[in-house]
Amino acid sequence: MTNLEVSPQEELCPPATAEETSGPCLQLWPEREVPLGGVRAMNVKRTLPQRGLPTIGAWCFLDSFGPDRTAMSVLPHPHIGLQTVTWPLAGHIRHRDSVGSDVVVRPGELNIMTAGQGVSHSEFAVLPSDGGQELPLQQGLQLWVALPDGDRHREPAFEQHRELPRAAGQGYTATVMVGSLAGVTSPATVYSPIVGADVSCEGDAVLPLDPTFEHGILVLDGGLAVDGEDLPAGPLGYLGTGRSELRMQARPGTRFLLIGGEPFGEELLMWWNFVGRTHDEVEQARDDWEAQAGLPDTETAAARYGLVPGHGPDAGAEAGRIPAPPLPGVRLTPRKRSVS
Ligand code: MN
Repeated sequence: MTNLEVSPQEELCPPATAEETSGPCLQLWPEREVPLGGVRAMNVKRTLPQRGLPTIGAWCFLDSFGPDRTAMSVLPHPHIGLQTVTWPLAGHIRHRDSVGSDVVVRPGELNIMTAGQGVSHSEFAVLPSDGGQELPLQQGLQLWVALPDGDRHREPAFEQHRELPRAAGQGYTATVMVGSLAGVTSPATVYSPIVGADVSCEGDAVLPLDPTFEHGILVLDGGLAVDGEDLPAGPLGYLGTGRSELRMQARPGTRFLLIGGEPFGEELLMWWNFVGRTHDEVEQARDDWEAQAGLPDTETAAARYGLVPGHGPDAGAEAGRIPAPPLPGVRLTPRKRSVS
């Protein structure tokens, strides 16, 4: 997915300090609707970054899309400095990118793309072949992981994991998307200590956590209580650091996304689909994408963001690319985390 905002603002995310991330807490951060640009009627809710909570570990972006019967059609667009993590909950998505990938990702499967110095990709819903049926339901999660400074200029790469390991314990089962949970480790390549898992639980559940990580929970179905407080579907629940386990009372059929990681100690500058460190760097990334417009395929393939095959002038509804929005005139000042 692309950041669908029409006029994205720069978001300067300060490094997490020890004071801000010391110890357990429970904060509810509301979801917000994303104003949409090119994709009509797609329902997207953002829970990260938040004003006051820019990152959880190296996780710096969390969008939930759907459930909708609008066909996802996201034309080629660029990324730098991050990994995209795509986790469909309903529907099939065809992913094509400038490192040569052309794959379909389904619920239970993970796409993880490392942008590094620059990558481009497209994402389209896979529609019924007879064209006459109702559009399939589309629902899923799109997350970004900020690459640490030592890895953010690396060559782009893509992985798909069709079978992920499962962890189980008191009252829960979990699919480990990235990192490790309860001694079970995902094969997905990541560049900082993080965890991401799709957890199902019921009744009194106890989930083991790494106490050096900060964690967050996004309830997808059902609901649960942590520390005697309700955590419903919708908002992102921030749990802080210092928890070696999470005791929950969960309604039947509860399912949630768990994300966590070591508090990220680097300042980030996020704008549109780019995660960088400075305004000039982001401006250069934008200029490089715009400079690729209209180049012949051979030159596009050799340019910073490469070529996503299949979107040329003869590609019908799949022809084209997403132009970068204008850079905002105002540079934002750093945000501070809200100390609980
Ligand atoms: Mn994208």
